[in-house]
Amino acid sequence: MKKAAFIYDPQLSTHVLRDDHVMRPSRLQYTFELLDSYGAFDGKAPSLLLSPRKATEEEVLTFHTREYLEAVKLFSRGEHGPYDPLQFNFSQYGDNPVYPGMYEAALLSTGASLVAAELVLNKEVPVAFNISGGLHHAMPGHASGFCIFNDPVIAINYLLKHVSRVAYVDIDCHHGDGVQAAFYNTDRVLTISLHESGRWLFPGTGDVTEIGQGRGLGYSVNVPLAPYTTDEMYLWAFREVVLPLLHAYRPDVLVTQLGVDTHFNDPITHLALTSQGFTACVEEFRNLVVPWLALGGGGYDMSAVARCWTLAYGVMAGLELPEPVSASYRERYGITHLRESEKPPVEPEMHTLARRFAEESVREVKRLVFPVHRLT
Ligand SMILES: [Zn+2]
Repeated sequence: MKKAAFIYDPQLSTHVLRDDHVMRPSRLQYTFELLDSYGAFDGKAPSLLLSPRKATEEEVLTFHTREYLEAVKLFSRGEHGPYDPLQFNFSQYGDNPVYPGMYEAALLSTGASLVAAELVLNKEVPVAFNISGGLHHAMPGHASGFCIFNDPVIAINYLLKHVSRVAYVDIDCHHGDGVQAAFYNTDRVLTISLHESGRWLFPGTGDVTEIGQGRGLGYSVNVPLAPYTTDEMYLWAFREVVLPLLHAYRPDVLVTQLGVDTHFNDPITHLALTSQGFTACVEEFRNLVVPWLALGGGGYDMSAVARCWTLAYGVMAGLELPEPVSASYRERYGITHLRESEKPPVEPEMHTLARRFAEESVREVKRLVFPVHRLT
């Protein structure tokens, strides 16, 4: 059996949201080509490469409203019908522009997550990675944060038809608000999001006091962090919160959203992780040895995205990824190394503030949520 599957097709990366939009699907192509330059898909590596399929309307409707789906379909082909894009949070110059073909693009990235979920559920591979997924902000009736359809929710809804418990861990720099909202009232999905605090960053939610309600009380977990949080304190918080909760919850399937906008070079966020810190989290997920659906997410520095997701897939598939990158890749994209050799510069004062913030968040999670899981 192959160790890992990667879901990709160039169709996932050819659309353009808007010429000046920070979300550039071509980052997926950068990643695929970097992995390809290491021989990840040459048939000899312990890795499968699969094409996505479009999600069906029925699958999309497990989370989204019919009205929203119909509106996206119309906008995508340049029509409006009875709808105003603004009522679904689309606007020409905002986060969520209407662009030609967006319905098909959203169906394909959602279907890619479903292909990955099917592979993992059927135990064809221990882990499947859809770098085009992880669009965690989309809400039932509107677009949000560059996300049209919420593929993590749709994939989890599919998994829940076959298994009892799913854990969703979101290490994107932004709070995984759409996924949290979908499962806020249930204990069948444990959602854990580590993110830059909503005090400083979109979407503004994800406070440590958001812990779920009703049967879901204690099954939504948030670890807000301060700007300039580095690898060391991020990993500390991850190990203090994520690992004990996953061990206690014992999910049938682990779903991870692996956004890389926590990287210190990311242009729209303020955490200070390196590719090594990000990769260490991915190694922790692998070490859990739970059927694992891995999704992409945010990440707006093209080099950081390509390098971090290449390293992540290297962990999943057990690939050797020596430095430096191949000459041909270097010439095409100007990237020389996968891993940074230097740490980001963080003022000692900011370092102290960020550490205190992380300690406070971890303390509050332990106080509010750990007793529900019989953890101390
Ligand atoms: Zn993000």
